[in-house]
Amino acid sequence: MKEKFVYFFANGKAEGTAKMKDLLGGKGANLAEMTNLGVPVPPGFTISTDACRIYYSSKGKIPRQIISEVEKAMDKLERITKKGFGDSSNPLLVSVRSGAKFSMPGMMDTILNLGLNDKTVAGLAQKTKNKKFAYDSYRRFISMFGDVVFRIEKKEFESIFDNFKRRMKVKYDVELSTDVFVDLVDEYKILVKEKTEKTFPFDPSAQMVMAIESVFKSWNNVRAIYYRNKYNIPHDIGTAVNVQTMVFGNMGSNSATGVGFTRNPATGEKVFYGEYLTNAQGEDVVAGIRTPKPILELKKEMPKVYDRLFSITQRLEKHYRDMQDFEFTIEDGVLYMLQTRVGKRTAHSALKISVDMVQEKIISVDEAIQRIEPSQLNQLLHPVIDPKAVLNLVAKGLPASPGAAVGKIVFDPDKAVQISADGQDVLLVRRETSPDDIHGMGAAQGFLTATGGMTSHAAVVARQMGKPCVVGCESVYIDEEKGTMKIGNQFLKEGEYLTLSGTTGEIFLGKTQLIPPKITDEFNVFMSWVDKIKVLGVRANADIPKDAAVARSFGAEGIGLCRTEHMFFAEDRIPIVQKMIMANTRNEREKYLNILLPLQKEDFKGLYREMKGYPVTIRLLDPPLHEFLPKRESLMVEITKMELSDADPRMLENKRALLQRVEELHEFNPMLGLRGCRLGIMMPEITEMQARAIIMAACEVEKEGIKVIPEIMLPLIATEEEMQAQKRIVIDIADRTLKECNKKLKYLVGTMIEIPRAAIVADLIAKHAGFFSFGTNDLTQTTYGLSRDDAGKIIKFYLQRNKTCPNCLSLFGEEKECQKCGANVTEVKENILSFDPFVNVDQQGVGFLMEHAVKKGRNTNKNLKIGICGEHGGDPSTVTYCHNIGLDYVSCSPFRVPIAKLAAAQVALAEKKKKKHR
Ligand code: PEP
Ligand code: MG
Repeated sequence: MKEKFVYFFANGKAEGTAKMKDLLGGKGANLAEMTNLGVPVPPGFTISTDACRIYYSSKGKIPRQIISEVEKAMDKLERITKKGFGDSSNPLLVSVRSGAKFSMPGMMDTILNLGLNDKTVAGLAQKTKNKKFAYDSYRRFISMFGDVVFRIEKKEFESIFDNFKRRMKVKYDVELSTDVFVDLVDEYKILVKEKTEKTFPFDPSAQMVMAIESVFKSWNNVRAIYYRNKYNIPHDIGTAVNVQTMVFGNMGSNSATGVGFTRNPATGEKVFYGEYLTNAQGEDVVAGIRTPKPILELKKEMPKVYDRLFSITQRLEKHYRDMQDFEFTIEDGVLYMLQTRVGKRTAHSALKISVDMVQEKIISVDEAIQRIEPSQLNQLLHPVIDPKAVLNLVAKGLPASPGAAVGKIVFDPDKAVQISADGQDVLLVRRETSPDDIHGMGAAQGFLTATGGMTSHAAVVARQMGKPCVVGCESVYIDEEKGTMKIGNQFLKEGEYLTLSGTTGEIFLGKTQLIPPKITDEFNVFMSWVDKIKVLGVRANADIPKDAAVARSFGAEGIGLCRTEHMFFAEDRIPIVQKMIMANTRNEREKYLNILLPLQKEDFKGLYREMKGYPVTIRLLDPPLHEFLPKRESLMVEITKMELSDADPRMLENKRALLQRVEELHEFNPMLGLRGCRLGIMMPEITEMQARAIIMAACEVEKEGIKVIPEIMLPLIATEEEMQAQKRIVIDIADRTLKECNKKLKYLVGTMIEIPRAAIVADLIAKHAGFFSFGTNDLTQTTYGLSRDDAGKIIKFYLQRNKTCPNCLSLFGEEKECQKCGANVTEVKENILSFDPFVNVDQQGVGFLMEHAVKKGRNTNKNLKIGICGEHGGDPSTVTYCHNIGLDYVSCSPFRVPIAKLAAAQVALAEKKKKKHR
């Protein structure tokens, strides 16, 4: 066993530093650092994450050595504070808080005022000459302890409290008399006795052990596990526990508690930003129970304290070289810092802060780039309300997290999950949210709360999830039982639509049209840095000029995949395509292909014009032909109906012919049937028409003075012979067309690598290919032998087998019994997958094939250009991987282009750093 589990901090000296986050958690490490910096921090100690891990490995027992270290630390704390733990005349009270390496706000447990009992409360009352304060602190302690240690639901305490308020006919807590708080303490103790059949623990040392154990346990509560899964935080690192001398923000009007940021976390503006409540304790501000005051009020209320707070937090920002999120308490006019950490922020604000800090010479460009999580950029790419939309403003709240959201209103997080699982958008509307709502928040498009400020739970979570959110909308009244809400003067039922703007705080009735977001100056500056650093090219998958324009506006360096079938599926073209498919001879097919030719040509011209000289990779027709025909079953129904009525015999005959063709084309496994290049080999006239359209369009656009680089891509190639056969047709047609147009133009013919055989014989295929593009959607499907259209359910189970009831397949949490069917769920199984291979490339299996293909392909063709165009191309972990295995570019959906670019720049920087250290 290790020697040391407890790290002390007091009076300008700490045993830890900010670098010790692994051991002390984020909060503990920062408390130590602040102490070392001479910032006024109430003294205390941190029990390390090692202790938590040992607690779990010792089957939930805290070893004696750890307890004795805690006892020694408490003795030291008593000496320093000159107070006694359990001393009835001069009691030492402490807070016990969780604090993991990674911030998990509100996910684990905290207990304040520990050390209070019937005797010490009297001492506290006497010492502070404030009996009301002492009993208020005591009743808060019992309810927190009851909730955290005994798992008595918070609302049971709240209902007692509300009853008192109702009886006394008061609205606010502060209006209650001292006697009421004394009575409340008694009632709370009775509740604990009823629920636990034990009296509330009197001995402070026993309280301490129980509290520490409960914080350790809270590491594995349902919401903490959910949070870790969502943010990829490892499950085995455990939490530290911080024990700290209590300071009180609720000792009267000269006391306060608050939270703040050194810059605005929603916009990034360099303004001191925060909220506080006078005469309040601990979690009151973040809990969103009362709407707090803006920090500038403090400047008027307590100017000296404000100045000190301002200068300390500025110093902290300089020291940590990043925007800080801090908590403070003012006890009888004296300021204490309770926490500082790097503040969570919206992507919009993260960008502004990074760009500003480079300009303020606080950080370097490389650091700025490394600070932004690529997927965070998603938030910037959120839709906003269409300015042309007719809006029906119904209320306004605080704009807590930007972007607009539309959805059906729901008041319950479980319902949010349910309705969104049916594919419908929901907005979660709550009086206030709590960490228990996290699953519903994950499912909703946005949140609206009636109370709370910009630092309330809903606001913080929304910013982190990148979802639009409006808080503190005081005209919202929810009647959960009736399933209704009043907003402004309107009554709405659950399921009706609302639109909210987290940018302005406005709420509108009904379903409003949303449009893509605008790009800010900071974004452009930041992306220009990214562009200079990244090595990997980033293209977009775009089939129509509108998407190509979006892709260009996000800086796409070409089109990596244009799926031409989308052009065939256009409503006005389907009848021609159907006739082409119905044709019995090549000649007849060509007749209809000739009608399609000018249409395709115009499509390609549109793309070339948008891409202005960047390469455009056009993939020849890929899907099975029957996809363009009506469904067999519906045709059969239609024919039967026609037969039973007086239908026109010619129309009936046509329908029957169509059914016959549908039946001829029917395949048991169309995904593995007549699709991709097989189609072009069996019906070469399709390839010919497409090749002609591609080249004719290029010639015509070049004549307009726009450079064009067409890259013709063959789908689903498996053999060298397929490659050769299709390439021959393409080159023949392309060269003939160029001659006809009297034009010289460089074009490439390449192939998708999307089935394992192609990857395996990549050296042979590469001899004939100008480029490879990994189609990782099909490559994943065929490598796993798992249909991409049916994989969802299986993958979901594989990812969550450890939390899925083996009996009814519903998810369970910490329970021992499935809540749905009652089955025993104590035997927890390992998951089969740790990630979804259709989201992140499976480097072990699919990646093996990719690496092999890159190596073999370049062996026979050193000029081979290689990219990826499967959906994985916009996933940051895949982008990193593609850089590392030497691809030339990735291609992804237009909105993911900035994300892919940032991931590419980050991996380039990481590589540079590695090389420097070598
Ligand atoms: C792929 O398979 O990865 C690909 C890009 O092609 P599609 O999704 O059109 O099959
Ligand atoms: Mg494919």
